[in-house]
Amino acid sequence: MAIPRFWREIRQRYKGIGVECKNCGEIYFPPRDICPECRRESYKKMEDYELKGTGEVVTYTKVHEPHPEFKDLSPYVMAIIEMDEGVRLTGHLVDVDYEQVERGMKVEASMRKLGEESPEGLIYYGYKFWPLDTHGKD
Ligand SMILES: [Zn+2]
Repeated sequence: MAIPRFWREIRQRYKGIGVECKNCGEIYFPPRDICPECRRESYKKMEDYELKGTGEVVTYTKVHEPHPEFKDLSPYVMAIIEMDEGVRLTGHLVDVDYEQVERGMKVEASMRKLGEESPEGLIYYGYKFWPLDTHGKD
């Protein structure tokens, strides 16, 4: 049985797999079929590219409203992260106090399951980021 495209995309997205345009070298995440720069030239030249998983804080905000899935964590910090490849992700910044967060701070990303609608239904995933220097070097 073929895996529905939707699920394939979900899995790619949360494993950090994008595509690289072999024509111009641009990285896209989530993946796309055609490079908007090269258009026709990129046809069949889009190859899987796994993000390295590191980036830096572009902007961030403190969220006081407890999200049902994050109720233990409120308030928490949401941030927009620019990955080393230039793509931007939004996620939950952990292991750091809001006062310590700053733009340009180096962070590492991971995916986590946030919740499940039903055994066969929707599974929510999200990005979690933590500061590179506090996470240990192992
Ligand atoms: Zn291109």
